[in-house]
Amino acid sequence: MSYQSLLAAAGLGADQLQHGVLIARTPIDGTELGRLEADTPERIEAKIAAAVAAFRRWRLVPAPARGELVRSFAERVRRNKDALGALISLESGKILSEGLGEVQEVIDICDFAVGLSRQLYGLTIASERPHHHMLERWHPLGPVAIISAFNFPMAVWAWNAALALVCGDSILWKPSDKTSLCALALHRLLDAAIAADPQAPTGLSALVLGGPSAGEQLAAHRAIPLVSATGSTAMGRAVSLATAARFGRALLELGGNNAAIVTPAADLALSARAIVFAAAGTAGQRCTSLRRLLVHRTVYEALLAPLRRAYASLPIGNPLSAETLVGPLVDGAAVERMQGALAVARQAGARISGGESVRLPGLEGGHYVRPALVELLAPIDISRQETFAPILYVFPYEQFEQAIASQNDVSHGLSSALFTTNLLEAETFLSAEGSDCGIANINAGPSGAEIGGAFGGEKETGGGRESGSDAWKAYMRRQTQTINYSPHLQLAQGVKFDIV
Ligand code: NAD
Repeated sequence: MSYQSLLAAAGLGADQLQHGVLIARTPIDGTELGRLEADTPERIEAKIAAAVAAFRRWRLVPAPARGELVRSFAERVRRNKDALGALISLESGKILSEGLGEVQEVIDICDFAVGLSRQLYGLTIASERPHHHMLERWHPLGPVAIISAFNFPMAVWAWNAALALVCGDSILWKPSDKTSLCALALHRLLDAAIAADPQAPTGLSALVLGGPSAGEQLAAHRAIPLVSATGSTAMGRAVSLATAARFGRALLELGGNNAAIVTPAADLALSARAIVFAAAGTAGQRCTSLRRLLVHRTVYEALLAPLRRAYASLPIGNPLSAETLVGPLVDGAAVERMQGALAVARQAGARISGGESVRLPGLEGGHYVRPALVELLAPIDISRQETFAPILYVFPYEQFEQAIASQNDVSHGLSSALFTTNLLEAETFLSAEGSDCGIANINAGPSGAEIGGAFGGEKETGGGRESGSDAWKAYMRRQTQTINYSPHLQLAQGVKFDIV
C-alpha cells in the first residue's frame, strides 16, 4: 500500500496535508508525508477560551453520561484500528504489531474509563460532633492540557483524555511535532463522537499543533489547572517550573533508565526472551525500554551467549513488514546521540556487539541501527543517562544487595525487573529496601505495562501516575464537606466561642 493510501485509510486526505510549517516525515525512508499549519499563539488562546466555556457545561453532565462519549469514541477507534496502527508505524517507525498494540491500549483505557464513570467514589467520614457528618467528594477540575511525546503518539494522550473526559474536564492536546498526523487522525474520531453527542459541548477537546513553544504557552496559562506532560526530563523540568509559578498542577511522565537483574536462580531462556524484547523492541524508544542489565557472575556467560546471538540476527527493516522486529529510529539526531554514547563507552573499554548504522536498499533515507550490547565491568557516567536508542549496558555483579543498589543508582525511577525463581530475592526486590521505581516486575521485562495499573515513576521520571488504579484523582479536585443537621452550632476540638 502506498503512503498516500495509508494516510487516506486513517482519514487524512492529501488536501488536508498541503500547507504549513510543520513537516511530517516517515522515519521509514525520510519521505515527506505532508505539511501542517502550526497553531499561532492567538489561535491557541482562542482554543483555551473555548475549553473554559466547554468545561462549564461538561462538568454538569452526569459522569455516566460523560462515559457514553468515551464509549462512542472507543467504538470509532475499534472500527479504525488497522488504519491507525499502520499510521503509527508510518509516522513513528514502530513495528506494525506494536502500532496495533498501541491502538489497542487506546481502546483498553477507554473501556476502563467508561467503567470508572460510574465509580468516581468519595468517602464518608465519621465526625467528632453529634449530628454532623462529613464527606469527601470529587469534582471536575477544569481544562487539562496534555503534552505528549513522539514515541507513544496515541496511547499516552488516550490515558489522559479518557480519564479527564469522564472526570468532567475539557482537554487540549499538544502532540509531539514529530507525530502530528497520528494526533490529527485520532482526534478526528473524538471530534466525530463529540459532534454526535447532544450533551457534549463544542470546544470540549482541541488539538494544538506546534513545537515546544505551543507547549510552553499551555504550561504557563492560568486557565489550565492541570498540565499532564510526557517527554524528556528537561521538558518536564520546564513544565514543572511554569506550572509551579502559577500554583497549577503538573502531572509528569518523563524519562527512564530502567534496569533488570538476572540472578543465579533465573530461568535463563525466559530471561533472554524478555530482555531482547525490552531492550531492542520499539528500537529502544520506549520510556520503559531496558537500558541496563545486571547479571550474576555465575550465569553471565550462559545468558550473554544467547543474547549476543539474538542481537546479531534481529531482523531490522521496514516496520510495516511482518518479519521486521526492529524499525528505524525517529530521526538522524537520534542516531547521532546513539553513536555518541557508544563512542564514550568504547573509550571506557566496553565490549560492544552491534550498534552500527544499517543501510537498507530502497530505504536509504531511513535511520536504521543494529541494537547494541555494551558489556562493561562497572557503571560509567554515560550508562547512568537515558540515551533514547537501543543500547543495553551489561554489568556482572557478585552480591544481590549490590545489584539492587546499582539498579537504583541513577537519577530516573521509572521501571525495573528481576528475573529469579527464588522467593526471598523476589520479595526483597519488591520490598521497601528493593527497587525504588514506580514499576517493579518479576520474571517480566520492564516495558509493556497494562492499563489497569498506575503508570509512572519516581525521581527525575517526575512522580506522576497516569492510566489505571486511582490515577483518575489527578484530574479532579477534592472537597471535604461537613454537614450539621442539628439546630446547634458545635465547634470542633471542643472549642467554646459563645456570644451573647
Ligand atoms: P520531548 O521532551 O522532546 O518532547 C515531548 C513533548 O514536549 C513534545 O510535545 C514537545 O513539543 C513538548 N515540549 C518540549 N519542550 C517543551 C517545553 N519547554 N514546554 C512545554 N512543552 C515542551 O520528548 P520526545 O523526544 O518526544 O520523547 C522522548 C522522551 O519522552 C524520552 O525521554 C522518554 O523517556 C519520554 N517518555 C516518557 C514516558 C512516560 O510515561 N514516562 C512516555 C513516553 C516518553
